[in-house]
Amino acid sequence: MAPIPGSGLAKGLAVTLRTMTRKTVTEQYPDAQPELPPRTRGVIGLFEENCTVCMLCARECPDWCIYIDSHKETVPPAAPGGRERSRNVLDRFAIDFALCMYCGICIEVCPFDALFWSPEFEYAETDIHELTHERDKLREWMWTVPAPPALDPAAEEPKEVAAARKTAEKLATAQAGPNAPQAAEPNTPQGGES
Ligand code: SF4
Ligand code: SF4
Repeated sequence: MAPIPGSGLAKGLAVTLRTMTRKTVTEQYPDAQPELPPRTRGVIGLFEENCTVCMLCARECPDWCIYIDSHKETVPPAAPGGRERSRNVLDRFAIDFALCMYCGICIEVCPFDALFWSPEFEYAETDIHELTHERDKLREWMWTVPAPPALDPAAEEPKEVAAARKTAEKLATAQAGPNAPQAAEPNTPQGGES
């Protein structure tokens, strides 16, 4: 059957009218910043103090785009007569974001919480070499990493926080003298460790 003359035009106009009344999905970037989820995979930050140069991230990276150099240093014994130990010292830590595919494996496998996602994404470059971010730049990204979500009110206090709090309380008691009142123990959630 032959199409009714003008039906195509009517269909087109119907589509135009329908979409005119819908909310637009066009992002006006860069005039307007997009609203991104806080855990967006934008760029990777390095918290160098936590890195033990275990090389796990570099070995697991599917793109081989993490470059780590280090050397060994001898640490004197902790007590007289003890044995000297050796430790790895980081010389270079770089990520080539021209190769990175943002899979997040490096962050997942790091056993020492040294790598984090930051939602920052505005680091496009005209020279591809500039996309290799060295340790200083990776450290700068750390300051853009959002704080972790708050714990559930009934959650057990993290062991690191509990240990730091007890140490601070002991120091405060020692500084205040033997007659100072003892700090009260915080409420321990039911079922948690005392
Ligand atoms: S996110 Fe994936 S590809 Fe990018 S550096 Fe980490 S492991 Fe490699
Ligand atoms: S896995 Fe973590 S601790 Fe090990 S080298 Fe990578 S960043 Fe450092």
